[in-house]
Parts: sequence; C-alpha cells; structure tokens
Amino acid sequence: MTDQPPIEDPIRRDTTAASSLVLVNTGDGKGKSTAGFGTLLRALARGWRVGVIQFIKSGDWRVGEEQLLTQLGAEWRSIGDGFSWDAEDLEVSKGLAQEAWAAARDALTSGDFEVVMLDEITYPMNWGWIDAADVVATIRERHEQTTVICTGRDAPDELVEVADTVTEMRNVKHAYDQGIQARRGIDY
Ligand code: ATP
Ligand code: MG
Repeated sequence: MTDQPPIEDPIRRDTTAASSLVLVNTGDGKGKSTAGFGTLLRALARGWRVGVIQFIKSGDWRVGEEQLLTQLGAEWRSIGDGFSWDAEDLEVSKGLAQEAWAAARDALTSGDFEVVMLDEITYPMNWGWIDAADVVATIRERHEQTTVICTGRDAPDELVEVADTVTEMRNVKHAYDQGIQARRGIDY
C-alpha cells in the first residue's frame, strides 16, 4: 500500500511563545555542530547578538564557520587544546574546560546575547572536568532572553531534561568509517 497524503492540518493551535529555548544536538552522527551554526545564521539574520564558546577545540583550530560568523557579528571564543588523545597534559585541558565554562556562564547570565552556542560542551561534562549539575542549573537560571544551543555526543540525562528541543544525529554511515579523511569545506 502506498502512503496517503495527510488531509488533517497537523499544526497545533494551542501554542504559546517562549522568550528563549534550550536546544541540544547530540548523537554519534555528523551534523551536531553544523546544525547549531545554521541556527546561528538565522539568529544573525534577525540582528540578534550571538556568542559561541567552543570547548575542547583550541584557538588555532579555526573551523570554517568561525571566520564567517565572526564577520557577521558573532562573538567567538575557542578555549581548549584539541582532542584529548593529542593533549600533552589532561590537567591543562581540564583547566581550559573550566575557563571555557566560566566564559559560558557569563554569556548565559549577562543578558548580552540572544543566542549562545556551547559547542562540544557534553565532553567536559561527561568527563567530570566541569560540574554538570552547575551547567544545568546555570542553563535553567540563565537570562530569560538567552537561547542556548549545546552540542556533543552522549548528552547527559540532566541536560536532556532541561532542554526544550533535543535532536539525536544517528550515524547511518560516515565517510571516515570507510577510511576517507575529513575534508576542508565539508567537515571543518
Ligand atoms: P559537524 O561539525 O560536521 O556538524 P559534529 O559536530 O556532528 O560534526 P563532531 O563529533 O563534533 O561531530 O565531529 C567533528 C568532526 O568529526 C567533523 O569533521 C565531522 O565530520 C566528523 N564526524 C562527525 N561524526 C562522525 C562519525 N560518526 N564518524 C567519524 N567522524 C565524524
Ligand atoms: Mg561538533
């Protein structure tokens, strides 16, 4: 049997407006960060103030989006020293994660941004480098006009709970699994 086109209007009529939202992009498939950056484009298009804090990744990493989103007015900070398997001293990485979290906390509470993206924040949360309960409480008590976008694999349950929208990217296939290296312009 073939599918039938829907004839009932699926749009809800009983909705309310929120002054801000919490979004989480998680899962083991590709697209968590890029979906977040896409949302930032929408925010910038509306003239909103946008902040990005990248955990784990270092300042000299420079994903392609950094230059463009900065040109469009986003405030961007990468506070980390790269992949944990490349790190010379994990205590240093942990300290940088805590520094990034301090910057994130300011961004969430100051009211200076309509959207703040916390890219790859799930990793330091899961590794105990930053206090996950504090992150969740700060998100809950953030400035009421500040939307938050969190990305990273294995979003902790309490982060999922505080979120309004949670999307899990599922890895159906990834070029890397077939031995194809990350590609500039596509992967970073
Ligand atoms: P992207 O930045 O492309 O949206 P992501 O944020 O979902 O990816 P990360 O875990 O942050 O994924 O990975 C960053 C890099 O790893 C990107 O180059 C991405 O293409 C690659 N990557 C993402 N998912 C996978 C996967 N399942 N296997 C291998 N590499 C992946
Ligand atoms: Mg990512």
